[in-house]
Amino acid sequence: MVKELLEHMRSKLPYESVAFLLGSTENGQFTAEEIVEVSNAAHSRVEFAVDPQELFNVYNKGREIVSIFHSHPGPAVPSDLDAFYMKLNPVPWLIASSVNGELRAYVLNKKVSEIKVIII
Ligand SMILES: [Zn+2]
Repeated sequence: MVKELLEHMRSKLPYESVAFLLGSTENGQFTAEEIVEVSNAAHSRVEFAVDPQELFNVYNKGREIVSIFHSHPGPAVPSDLDAFYMKLNPVPWLIASSVNGELRAYVLNKKVSEIKVIII
């Protein structure tokens, strides 16, 4: 699944890439079972946006969205804008760096904190 995400990221360069991870939540652990790649409606190297119709299609699958993935052209740490959107979308956010392929996950409680990614 990580390989898929990184391939998606590389295929969208130089723009940021975006995807939704669908799956299940149990005991505070989020398990991703399906990746839905979407396009970056912002066509930007430094930010992303999701087309409402594409977002609707993701919701329409009727599965739980366990994470939002996007890539950065720099370190895999949330930007201020990401932190703002994390408030509106309180799921773990996965960020990959297109510089070094690093993948990290974050949640927003009172502040943004990193959580562990377990690759199975
Ligand atoms: Zn970002």
